[in-house]
Amino acid sequence: MFTDQVAVVTGASRGIGRSIALALAGQGAKLVVSARNLEALNELVAQIKNDGGEAVAVAADVSVSADADKLIDTAVESFGRVDILVNNAGITRDGLLVRMKDEDWDAVLATNLKGAFACTRAAAKVMNKQRYGRIINISSVVGEMGNPGQANYCASKAGLIGLTKSNALELARRNVTVNAITPGFISTDMTDELSDKVRTELTAKIPLGRLGESEDVTEAVLFLASGKSGYITGQALGVNGGMYM
Ligand code: NAP
Repeated sequence: MFTDQVAVVTGASRGIGRSIALALAGQGAKLVVSARNLEALNELVAQIKNDGGEAVAVAADVSVSADADKLIDTAVESFGRVDILVNNAGITRDGLLVRMKDEDWDAVLATNLKGAFACTRAAAKVMNKQRYGRIINISSVVGEMGNPGQANYCASKAGLIGLTKSNALELARRNVTVNAITPGFISTDMTDELSDKVRTELTAKIPLGRLGESEDVTEAVLFLASGKSGYITGQALGVNGGMYM
């Protein structure tokens, strides 16, 4: 489905980002995969190459604009274009509002929101020239609902929805679509931190009766990254088992 297309995925070293990168590569895209830690990325690149694909790893902290620029520059230098950008890198630094430290607020907003802004700004310059692009921001259901103990995270994910809509309006004329996905609770390292009690309580609130898997998010990304979604832009697609409608 993505033969001759180039995809950049941030936060690709594990969890949802890794699943997205492997799926895009499996369908023919050339991959530029990124995270701060190169070791896990190198393993991912080896796996993609072993499966017959093409991939390059870039160590980049998306909260640093120069790193975001380097990431997109590397994609262009390596493969000549950027068709798909998946802004997936994200962190949590949970805590109750009254105890939340400035550095926990700043770190989460810098990675989750500024990171997507910086990568999109760099990629949009390339996509505008190509007159083609698909940008997908991995937000969260808690950006729509709120969640106690996650003021920083929820604000960053709600901000991503606003960024998605604004960028969709600016880039539409150049045939660049920008959409968000709002996953519910997905089984990854991020949610492995939850206690069994919290996990059971959460599951009870999900109409489909289970936590999501990375692949559930990946399937939605594949659609929004494809030519089949060409008339969809500025949307936030829930992948949440029905927990928020
Ligand atoms: P994860 O397993 O913790 O993986 C996070 C990825 O982001 C890693 O590859 C990490 O690699 C990278 N990363 C973190 N900070 C970064 C930075 N400053 N610059 C570049 N890369 C950075 O997380 P996940 O559960 O797969 O989540 C992926 C995305 O989905 C996140 O945006 C998350 O908020 C969102 N999401 C997750 C869930 C869920 O239930 N799991 C639900 C809704 C939304 P390094 O540490 O090496 O940088």
